Amino acid sequence: MALVSDIYGSMVFNEHTMQERLPSATYKKLMKTIKDGQPLDLEVANVVAHAMKEWAIEKGATHYTHWFQPLTGITSEKHDSFIDPIADGRAIMSFSGKELIQGEPDASSFPSGGLRATFEARGYTAWDPTSYAFIKDEVLCIPTAFCSYTGEALDKKTPLLRSMSAVEVQAKRVLELFGETPHRVVTTVGAEQEYFLISEKDYEKRSDIILTGRTLFGYPPCKGQELEEHYFGAIRPTVNEFMKELDDELWKLGVSAKTKHNEVAPCQHELAPIFANANRAIDENLLTMEKMKLLASHYGLVCLQHEKPFDSINGSGKHNNWSISADNKNLLDPGDSPMENVRFLVFLTGVIQAVDEYQELLRMSVASCGNDHRLGANEAPPAIISMFLGDELGGVVDALVANDEYVAPNGQEMDLGVDVLPNFLKDTTDRNRTSPFAFTGNKFEFRMPGSSVNLSDCNMVLNTAMAKSLKEFADALEGVPAAEFEMAALNYVRNTLRDHQRIIFNGDGYSDEWPEEAARRGLANHKTTADALPCFVEPKSIALFEEFGVLSETEVRSRYEVKLEKYNKLMNIEIRTMKRLTRRDYLPAINNYAAEVARSISEIRTVLPDANVTLQETRLRQLTDGIAEINTQLEELHRLHYQSLEIADEQERANMNAHVIIPVMEKLRAAVDAMEIIVERQWWPVPALNEVLFYC
Ligand code: ADP
Ligand code: MG
Repeated sequence: MALVSDIYGSMVFNEHTMQERLPSATYKKLMKTIKDGQPLDLEVANVVAHAMKEWAIEKGATHYTHWFQPLTGITSEKHDSFIDPIADGRAIMSFSGKELIQGEPDASSFPSGGLRATFEARGYTAWDPTSYAFIKDEVLCIPTAFCSYTGEALDKKTPLLRSMSAVEVQAKRVLELFGETPHRVVTTVGAEQEYFLISEKDYEKRSDIILTGRTLFGYPPCKGQELEEHYFGAIRPTVNEFMKELDDELWKLGVSAKTKHNEVAPCQHELAPIFANANRAIDENLLTMEKMKLLASHYGLVCLQHEKPFDSINGSGKHNNWSISADNKNLLDPGDSPMENVRFLVFLTGVIQAVDEYQELLRMSVASCGNDHRLGANEAPPAIISMFLGDELGGVVDALVANDEYVAPNGQEMDLGVDVLPNFLKDTTDRNRTSPFAFTGNKFEFRMPGSSVNLSDCNMVLNTAMAKSLKEFADALEGVPAAEFEMAALNYVRNTLRDHQRIIFNGDGYSDEWPEEAARRGLANHKTTADALPCFVEPKSIALFEEFGVLSETEVRSRYEVKLEKYNKLMNIEIRTMKRLTRRDYLPAINNYAAEVARSISEIRTVLPDANVTLQETRLRQLTDGIAEINTQLEELHRLHYQSLEIADEQERANMNAHVIIPVMEKLRAAVDAMEIIVERQWWPVPALNEVLFYC
């Protein structure tokens, strides 16, 4: 077996390979582009393209693709071969700098929210040299940004990159006030990916999962997760084999898959990588998701990445661990010296301000049809954004706000202006799993994102909001004499914390009291995507994105449209699937079984006219009543569905889906599920959740 160190990154055109393969002048110029963001000229690109192609061909590649993330959130690729026919009938393999730098895919079949009329169907992909090229299935994949003919971003990556620059510029201003002039400031992300694995045999029989990613029907299994035996439990052999191959494949792609374990729900698992800069981390997460789906099939399994595939057990999230670092020094690490502590407090305060001020945008950034079923369900954070700091850091913040001495848990008094913050944070911030945004020692963990989401949106919001906090700090403090800086910075921190303290909540986010308390604090609670999306186009949001050049108003509006349309389209698919399955599978099955029961009653009576058939008759009555109830709900759903399709305004239609149609879908499901437990098993048209969730 190959050593991990030998295969790690073997399919990536990483810095090591670049240095090995490129003439040193080209390597240096490319590094300037990668590390300092300097533009790349075509001559250099030609040399890089040639080296990349030679390397890729040696690794068995025949094609290349610009790999990008349109607004669907998933990745897109169109494969072009390296083949270039020559006059004598043979072909050479070629790849030019121009082909590396820019592509022109037809953009008309990707969502654009009205940005791109079809007569301007052309879109451009542009190489993102800050994320490495890699080989996947004999194709050289070049990470790219995707924009319209007129330059508007049509993808998830472009605004993320813009937001990373915005936060870098402002962070550098702040750091300069601390006498630090780092080369680069980047935001870092570690994405913990949760997923389910079910057997292919069951999957094939469940069109609801095939079409919508989740079960639309299904009586809860006899056993759920109550025995708490699955979390961190021994991994079953097939799954273990799957995980091993997944690790191998990811390592080859330079994805640092680090931790794997069973999650709380039956057949639920998690993979966590080692964090990377946000741009690369998101590319890696998308690759991870793709590989998971693909490799599961090698083991007769199907990987479900929907947020809530099964109603009665936990759903899947994707925790977004986030921090900001200057030349590899984590700025959310308290450090050892007083000035480092003040800097830590400034950045911490920046995050608190950003999250409070733009809580609705953050909530919006993770809103999706699937996540609506997860947020607020009892295993996931509620739809209310709040922050958890832990008792000790919370104590520091309280003391700052109250302008008190801080008394550490060991009774030691500290003057927060000069003393070193106790080195407790890393070890003792406890694990409040109910908080959507928790400080975990030296980073924040945003737990609202759903398992299927592309994390670019929430990181774009987070970075831009953080840029705004840092900008305000720099604007206020630049010009303050050095001798007064520390005091002025602490005063600023104190006042800002005072203004934003409402967002900090260390209690139980799952409790019934929290939504009431949150409402008193004026925190937003948007339970559905339909309610969460409108804040995207509010003047305050548009102003934020425009101020930092992350999204123009047109881009914001188009993204809002795309999100709304996607929500409505997914709802439409779910409704149609429900109706279709009810009519063609469930109702006929229940009816056939009812007829069977009726037949058995008459047959028994023929032989034994005085037999007691009360049970059978009761059952028959339950079945016919059940059929009637299903039909009532089906007709109602059908009527509302058609009514919703008449609504031209996408927001209004989304509102109707979220508030009027979903409750009827729930009633229809309940009516069908109530029949599932009384219909004889062999008559039921699909595998029950007992089987789907507990396979061998
Ligand atoms: P926990 O056990 O609290 O979830 P881990 O140390 O296992 O914490 O880290 C969880 C995830 O957070 C991992 O993907 C890890 O790489 C990531 N992470 C750690 N430090 C940072 C950081 N500074 N920035 C972003 N992500 C980080
Ligand atoms: Mg974690």
